Amino acid sequence: MGRVYNFSAGPAVLPEEVLKEAADEMLDYKGTGMSVMEMSHRSKAFDEIIKDAEKDIRELMGIPDNYKVLFLQGGASQQFAAVPMNLMKNKKAAYIITGQWAKKAYQEAQKYGEAVAVASSADKTFSYIPDCSDLDIPEDADYVYICENNTIYGTKYKTLPNTKGKTLVADVSSCFLSEPVDVTKYGVIYGGVQKNIGPAGVVIAIIREDLITDDVLEGTPTMLKWKTQADADSLYNTPPCYGIYICGKVFKWIKKMGGLEAMKAHNEKKAKILYDFLDESKLFKGTVEKKDRSLMNVPFVTGNEELDKKFVAEAKAAGFENLKGHRTVGGMRASIYNAMPIEGVEKLVEFMKKFEAENA
Ligand SMILES: *Cc1c(COP(=O)(O)O)cnc(C)c1O
Repeated sequence: MGRVYNFSAGPAVLPEEVLKEAADEMLDYKGTGMSVMEMSHRSKAFDEIIKDAEKDIRELMGIPDNYKVLFLQGGASQQFAAVPMNLMKNKKAAYIITGQWAKKAYQEAQKYGEAVAVASSADKTFSYIPDCSDLDIPEDADYVYICENNTIYGTKYKTLPNTKGKTLVADVSSCFLSEPVDVTKYGVIYGGVQKNIGPAGVVIAIIREDLITDDVLEGTPTMLKWKTQADADSLYNTPPCYGIYICGKVFKWIKKMGGLEAMKAHNEKKAKILYDFLDESKLFKGTVEKKDRSLMNVPFVTGNEELDKKFVAEAKAAGFENLKGHRTVGGMRASIYNAMPIEGVEKLVEFMKKFEAENA
């Protein structure tokens, strides 16, 4: 069997070109006679890989010089603790709860200080983004926290919250590099790369320099203090070398595709094909408010659990993988990250039309 159309929410589809290149270099990376997996993280070859990766992501996102780019481990979930440990000087922070990942971050922060939920969309199963233009942000909050794209529910902030001057911290795991971003609006942008950039095992954190200090919560582990890795250019200990290498290739692929503006156009085109169909279908329905729809994760249902199951099974048999919704919400979800070709979405919609006709 050849490659399928993989709609997984993460780990997720990667550009085929990148995988082929990595395959070509597997046994002998550029004449070193070894795989990137086998080389020292202090070697000249790896030094070039990580420096190049940093240079390319800086160029893609237009990251200003007063921000550090860190390549970390521990998944996005580890940053749920690292964020309060590094930022809670007043032991208080504002959290906007738009789904499970935001909620988990909020719960984790409660271990280290007072995490205040200043808005939530839990009342309607996280099917929208609350109005964040005038929230009651505590005067002494150290930061305002958001999960910018909600992987499970399929919503995304179209405008960032008014933080009333407080530092904005955003988990962008599932929308990283999907469209242009104004980094200066954030204090911290971080995400696990396994949704839209590379293999699991790498977290990229982009942090404004003044937020990287020795003044962290007492008891913060060395490895969770951002300054440890910032001072060592992400090489305090052995980084996830192979993952960083693949991320670097994906950055180059995005540059070749035309950068983040082009990615945005490509992603909007794909999402429109699917959302337009959902809006006209008599069987399938999108589950979130239109104004808050994600470009990356598209949940939908038939309204009948048995039919949902049948759809997922038949889609799988036809070469459309991982369309089952998150275990906590059911239904279906198509994740259509950067590397999903337009053709994959077109074919999925064709298949949905056929299924609708057969099950009317
Ligand atoms: C997947 C995901 C996470 C969890 O990532 P891990 O790397 O598994 O810890 C956190 N936040 C968002 C938005 C995600 O999509």
